[in-house]
Amino acid sequence: MNFISTRGQAAPVGFIEACLSGLAPDGGLYVPETWPRIEPAGVHEAYADVAARVLGAFAGDEIPPATLQEICKRAYAGFAHQSVAPLVQTGPNAYLMELHHGPTLAFKDVAMQLIAQLFDVALESRGERMSVTCATSGDTGGAAAAAFAGSTNVDLFILHPFERISPVQRLFMTTTGADNVHNLAIDQNFDSCQSIVKQLFADREFVTTSGLSGVNSINWARIAAQAVYYATAQTALGADRALRFIVPSGNMGDALAGYVAARCGLLAGFEAVCAVNENDALRVLLQDGYMRRADAVSTPSPAMDISVPSNFERLAFEASGRDPDMVRQLYEQFAQSGDVELPERIKGPLGCMGLSAQTVTNTSTLEEMKRVYAETGWEICPHTAVGTAVARRLAREDQVSVVLATAHPAKFPETVHEAIGQTPDLPERAKAVAARTEVYDHATADVAAVRDYILSRQRT
Ligand SMILES: *Cc1c(COP(=O)(O)O)cnc(C)c1O
Repeated sequence: MNFISTRGQAAPVGFIEACLSGLAPDGGLYVPETWPRIEPAGVHEAYADVAARVLGAFAGDEIPPATLQEICKRAYAGFAHQSVAPLVQTGPNAYLMELHHGPTLAFKDVAMQLIAQLFDVALESRGERMSVTCATSGDTGGAAAAAFAGSTNVDLFILHPFERISPVQRLFMTTTGADNVHNLAIDQNFDSCQSIVKQLFADREFVTTSGLSGVNSINWARIAAQAVYYATAQTALGADRALRFIVPSGNMGDALAGYVAARCGLLAGFEAVCAVNENDALRVLLQDGYMRRADAVSTPSPAMDISVPSNFERLAFEASGRDPDMVRQLYEQFAQSGDVELPERIKGPLGCMGLSAQTVTNTSTLEEMKRVYAETGWEICPHTAVGTAVARRLAREDQVSVVLATAHPAKFPETVHEAIGQTPDLPERAKAVAARTEVYDHATADVAAVRDYILSRQRT
């Protein structure tokens, strides 16, 4: 299967190339040239087998089905729950889908575990190595460290803002003990980390000589991997039942994966509500029809503190009737002015795609955590609480809703304590992490220094 860029000025590439390169060279995002038809998840089908079929529909003949099955089995073997993404009933027509049973207790494990296996196999077949770089405000770095630790062909470089992420989040990145995982604590905030990574990627010569790649939320392999749990939820709750998914959202990779699942025939219908915190650029986009730059503010749900939801570009491409010129113009205008109204030819169709967004304030998020605890005795993470608050707001008796629980509460002990007055226990499997030695290096926010660090540490 070929992948094309949403901005139309890059040559089509195959599945492996689309996954390994992340962003297309024209600055656009890769999307499949046509939507494959995928059979819904079988009632008795194991999660890893569904994942192998979904990935296989995009990989075409680039990766043999048996290899994909192996990759998916290995990816999900380390999950603490057999069904990987179990559903818990919370009311007559209400469910939580728990996506935090992976090694670092956040939903990013679901895609990252798979991507690491995929990269290793793809690079092995090409006889290549890569240096994967990412900036993290918390969850992505840990998930990447756990997934790539011990990888044969990938060296991982994670930049995090020094003393600005929670200790639990840092432990997951710094205690792998793997010599291919390198942590850099940058003496600045997350935006500076992200800006360094952007500058590294803008240096095309460095990208080529160092074999640099990324695994951020626009990577197609992550989107495809996340489409899988929408499919298993649909089958578990009844093949013909219309479900409303409520998705705590930041970069919108997760919500987009639901749309992809529907487009490929894995769902009975499609309705997803993106639940966002006070950084509500996504609501402004979907409700008001404006793409507007704003500084990210800090909230109790830091993994969703995103000011420009990057995966929106793929939706804009679909809404425009797959018109790359329109998408390119939109993003060029946005880059210049930071505030553009969506053209009618995007805004109109966008309203009929099954996606909407709702904002939850910081105060309501903490109140929701408190209320859920009082009602049920459950501790929930602040990101999940943004979702359950929206579910509560929109609840209708005849509507089945599935809220995606995106992280384990123990990952955010300070916020949980603030909300309910007690600190959640780390699950047994994560306790070992707290006892290990942390390894990380320090750097100032200087691109040249980070570049040298990567060159001196990467295996050749
Ligand atoms: C990354 C993350 C999100 C947001 O997911 P997107 O795909 O960026 O929309 C929500 N909750 C948690 C816990 C996360 O780590």
